Amino acid sequence: MIFRILLIVLVIGGIYLFVKNMLGTTDFKKCGKCDGRGYWIAMRGERDKCDVCKGAGKVSRKI
Ligand SMILES: [Zn+2]
Repeated sequence: MIFRILLIVLVIGGIYLFVKNMLGTTDFKKCGKCDGRGYWIAMRGERDKCDVCKGAGKVSRKI
């Protein structure tokens, strides 16, 4: 009985760590200004580097 409870606790702990790890990898979100491309097409048809994400196409969630 105690072993079974321990096993459930371990499984829940494992899932918690897994979810935490998954969330940790998504610290960046798609840049809203350039729609994740890192640049946008300027008026004259040339690519302008995005100044929000600096060409990366993604921005940190912490900002
Ligand atoms: Zn951008």
